[in-house]
Amino acid sequence: MDERIHEERRKIDEVNAEILRLISKRGEITAQIGLLQTALGLPHYDPERENQMLIALVEANRGPLSDEAIKQLFKEIFRASLDMEECQDQHKMLYSRKVKPEDTRVYAGPAVFGKAPLLIAGPCSIESEEQMMEVAGFLSGHGVQVLRGGAYKPRTSPYAFQGLGKAALLLGRLAADRYHMAFVTEVMDTRDVGLVAEYADILQVGARSMQNFALLREVGQAGRPVLLKRGMSATVEEWFYAAEYVLAAGNAQVILAERGIRTYEKWTRNTLDLSAVALAKQETHLPVVVDVTHAAGRIDLLAPLARAALAAGADAVHVEVHPNPRVALSDNQQQMDFVQFEAFMARLTDLFPMNEVPAVQKD
Ligand code: PEP
Ligand code: MN
Repeated sequence: MDERIHEERRKIDEVNAEILRLISKRGEITAQIGLLQTALGLPHYDPERENQMLIALVEANRGPLSDEAIKQLFKEIFRASLDMEECQDQHKMLYSRKVKPEDTRVYAGPAVFGKAPLLIAGPCSIESEEQMMEVAGFLSGHGVQVLRGGAYKPRTSPYAFQGLGKAALLLGRLAADRYHMAFVTEVMDTRDVGLVAEYADILQVGARSMQNFALLREVGQAGRPVLLKRGMSATVEEWFYAAEYVLAAGNAQVILAERGIRTYEKWTRNTLDLSAVALAKQETHLPVVVDVTHAAGRIDLLAPLARAALAAGADAVHVEVHPNPRVALSDNQQQMDFVQFEAFMARLTDLFPMNEVPAVQKD
């Protein structure tokens, strides 16, 4: 090649190195500004300031690049700085593995989330003492350590069964104590948090409440572990930020739960998002539960989805089990009966070392 071109290219290399040095210097300054903005609670993006900078740059432009080209180039630089500031913020989040590299374990009664795979099981709604005793006795006999059951039910229709409230909390506690299980139940209202925390070992924040920020703050101060379900239309980032509310309120015992998201698919109730599970395990240090029942909404898919969930790194699987699902007061299409639960477990015996978990029966 012509030596003159070589010579010009050497100059370009020098200019590139100089631009890189200046862009990096600019990045360091914007990172500093970003930290100050975060500390002061100010947004990182300031359109007014960006506009002023562009006007000044265009005024100073003497060519050969057009004003439009200069604007485009600097807009890219501004965007890269903004991305960097937001990324910097995420690394400071309490949920982040960058902040806490080791896995968090969550302790609830006899159950430890984040150690060996666990099962959470029980009826959708708590309906009667017989129902709860029967189901808790059966499940604990199969090594299940966490009993679920709804006392306050988030129903699409205000005329559908809303749960038995405090009476159900008493029954859930009674059954869990009798069979030495942990008891998890949903709380929907900030006014009920204290009461639910008296009876439950784990407070569930349901999919429909994931962005009820007042509730997140309240359960963050209740002194009980929190099972935080992902909203049915929530992004993974929104789910993590919801966890951040609880963590920032002083509660480190947070369990994330993926329960399927809304998509155009009709053959399942929701679409189980396993990439969210893998992401949650990678980006956060919190235990992750996969609720296969509400994700699939059909019994025939529960075992393969549970296997997939554990393969993706989940710490626990959540299923609904009812002594007689046909007469259940909620979700009667998707709860397993005892025979179906045994068939489900038979397909997972290699993954759940249940035999190592003695079922303790208290009378
Ligand atoms: C539930 O677990 O009882 C429930 C209502 O689930 P979700 O909030 O995931 O719909
Ligand atoms: Mn249900």
